[in-house]
Amino acid sequence: MRKPIIAGNWKMYKTFDEAVEFVEAVRDAIPTEDKIDAVICAPALYLPTLVDVATETDLAIGAQNMHFENEGAFTGEVSPAQLAAINVDYVILGHSERREMFNETDEAVNKKVRAALNHGIVPIICCGETLEEREAGHTEAKVSKQIRAALQGFTAEEVAHMVIAYEPIWAIGTGKTATADDANETCGSIRNVVAELFGQETADAIRIQYGGSVKPENIQELLAKEHIDGALVGGASLDTTSYLKLLEAGANA
Ligand code: 13P
Repeated sequence: MRKPIIAGNWKMYKTFDEAVEFVEAVRDAIPTEDKIDAVICAPALYLPTLVDVATETDLAIGAQNMHFENEGAFTGEVSPAQLAAINVDYVILGHSERREMFNETDEAVNKKVRAALNHGIVPIICCGETLEEREAGHTEAKVSKQIRAALQGFTAEEVAHMVIAYEPIWAIGTGKTATADDANETCGSIRNVVAELFGQETADAIRIQYGGSVKPENIQELLAKEHIDGALVGGASLDTTSYLKLLEAGANA
């Protein structure tokens, strides 16, 4: 059985003090790592402190983006080597907000996944369709293209330890969730792509999250589905009570 992974994506929310207070409040209430992987992906400038505050607890800290080069003249960017040096465990890559607003391409995402693995950082690779693409019946084709590109050049063993997040763009921050059946169907189609490229064993091992207006009220139904192994959560991960409820649902899934 795949262990559920619940990751909060704080995006560009919270001040430094709020971020530290949050981690201090939840760090000792995380269900054990045997049951669930719990992650908070915070703004880059808080990461060293949050890694410290969460040390020796079951809460892992992740970044929301990174460059693929280790160093260089890339003003404003954060490198994989820099994240690894402060013991960041996860990094979200190819979030639709980065693809749509910061022109991140499939090729760049692929390079970032390689860079994450080179530094022992687990990538959470995002994919998802727009409302127009869904209505035109292009959901599977879109996510398949994004996932094939992201996973190009990796071995089955490497892919087995990655995390994919399926986030329909129209469901992000809108209060609209894909139905659990629709989300499961697309997550299943992603698993089929992984099976085709890397074999069934790898497809059975890789964890696929759903993201898009996940809340304590709907997470149970989503996690009950065969192909949904966790959630990538924006808004509902900003509040300690709500975040802990999401983890509890994950631990009991
Ligand atoms: P919401 O949970 O706020 O819809 O955000 C989803 C998301 O983009 C997580 O990466």
